Amino acid sequence: MTSRANLIRRGDGLVVLLVAILLQSCTAASQVAYNVALASPEQHLVEVQIILPPGPAERDLQLPVWNALYQVRDFAQFVNWIRARDSAGKTLTVREQDKSRWQIEGTANGATVEYQIFVDSLGPFGAQVNTHHAFFNLAEILMYPVDARNSPLSLRFTQVPNGWHIATPLKSDRDAFLADNYDRLVDSPVEIGEFRESDFDESGAHFRVIIDADPADYDSDKILADLHKVVAAATSWMNDRPFDSYMFIYHFPHGPAGGGMEHAYSTAIELNADSVKQSLYPVTAVTAHEFFHLWNVKRIRPQTLEPIDYTRENFTRALWFSEGVTSTVEEIIQLRAGLIDEKQFLSHLAGEIGELEHRPAHLTQSAEQSSMDAWLEGYSYYRRPERSISYYNKGELLGIMLDLALRDASHGQACLREVLQWMNANYAKKGRFFDDSNGVREAAEAVTHADFGWFFTKYVAGTDELPWNDFLRSVGLKIESQTTTVPDPGFLASRNFDGPMSVVAVSPGSDAERAGLREGDTITELLGKTVGQESRQDVARLKPGDTLTAKVRSHGRERELKWKIAGRQETSYEVKDLDQITPDQRARRAAWLKGEAQTQTTAGTIHPASAGITSGVNQK
Ligand SMILES: [Zn+2]
Repeated sequence: MTSRANLIRRGDGLVVLLVAILLQSCTAASQVAYNVALASPEQHLVEVQIILPPGPAERDLQLPVWNALYQVRDFAQFVNWIRARDSAGKTLTVREQDKSRWQIEGTANGATVEYQIFVDSLGPFGAQVNTHHAFFNLAEILMYPVDARNSPLSLRFTQVPNGWHIATPLKSDRDAFLADNYDRLVDSPVEIGEFRESDFDESGAHFRVIIDADPADYDSDKILADLHKVVAAATSWMNDRPFDSYMFIYHFPHGPAGGGMEHAYSTAIELNADSVKQSLYPVTAVTAHEFFHLWNVKRIRPQTLEPIDYTRENFTRALWFSEGVTSTVEEIIQLRAGLIDEKQFLSHLAGEIGELEHRPAHLTQSAEQSSMDAWLEGYSYYRRPERSISYYNKGELLGIMLDLALRDASHGQACLREVLQWMNANYAKKGRFFDDSNGVREAAEAVTHADFGWFFTKYVAGTDELPWNDFLRSVGLKIESQTTTVPDPGFLASRNFDGPMSVVAVSPGSDAERAGLREGDTITELLGKTVGQESRQDVARLKPGDTLTAKVRSHGRERELKWKIAGRQETSYEVKDLDQITPDQRARRAAWLKGEAQTQTTAGTIHPASAGITSGVNQK
């Protein structure tokens, strides 16, 4: 079934223009109106018109320097030209105040500002128009009047190619989309093209699913069936549904992809078509993560991200929680939805532990520092393992260990679920923001009536090694490490979200170096496949002696290289059952894998083996 709400088809150009002019004259008196013309999709050019109502004699327009990623990307670099005229058609002076801000003089009786912007940044974090489609994170293309950021706005798209439709979670009135303020407007992604739309109802809400992909690459019934499960599992875990409708936007391109972007009433997710064809696991995993963000980060929001400063970085210590713990809950949702089992969950946990332990920077950079330094992630040196850890990785592990510690401190009566629900009730629902890590600690202590200072001091603000076995004991598990020979490709590469893969280090004397691979090279293909999220696993599957083929680009020149995989000693981790598991540990584990606290009858007696974490860790 196709929902018609918010779906605008392109009609006769003249009629659209007349309606636009009529609506303009209706709304011009009171509010700022944007007209976005898809002027030249083949040249990736968009022309934006901002109709300013009568008001101050001078007005400043600001284009955000960052959006979607915690990285300054200076979208003003793409503004080709800007001009303005008053209501009588007279040209107005536009003065550049800084690289992203312009002042317009003579706006007292209203004005029209126009500019052309180049948009060809792909993925859920970008803004792009081409002959296939358009996808916008609107903050990357729309300037806002600094004095009217909190006022209602309207948005129209013009010169939309024949046969293209528009999908966005924004509410609409005839051909115009409406938002209460600029922040709400730009938290609403827009897809324009020949996508397929489905919809479903679940947990009392309406969901629209927009898929822009080759229908041969995915099974929409299977995706919808999994979305039902994810939505039901997440809303029941939070015991909340703070929306009536929600939109999923998916892109499955045949090229580089990888990632999802959260919004309050929607998400945009991009995954490589080949990986989606093989398994829906990446779709459901990323979807569970982005969907949970509608609470954690969009509504349960750290104070340091508010108000959003579009002119510079919002530095925050909370991304280990807002991102990392969202990854923790992503796993809980998948477990509750029956999309993964205990074995997969524990093997994922072991993998995450390995990832943290293998980065030497886990001894020098804390989870909070990693959050503060998110703004450096665009630089490849920063992504080196001796320089930084990932707040996703350590944050997810902190979420799991905090969950276990909460259960311990409360004898099974409270867990991560109570913390998130407490934060939802005491911050989100009351319109308050939380004080970064202190706010999480406040919630942990409120639901357990125990002191959690030790956890936050050592593992969140500090760089103490996490004593995995102290935490895992209460659920009858332990971590085992063994040294094995692992394949060594002779280089280290990293990607900035869905950006290209760049080589950050080449081992001296390795076959990779002899084959001609150099630091700074961009890898476009590995093993005959376009580089994507799954490239790392593809390489990890190779054995010493296998041949690695790569297409590599540097200084505009493309080379094909191949070399033999070497072997190297490395510690690998496994999460295993304890030799003896008590009934209490078994009951605790069952509740943990459901993401729930234990009921009074299953909690059992207070037992030294299951009450060990807090005191044991405290003594160190
Ligand atoms: Zn996230």
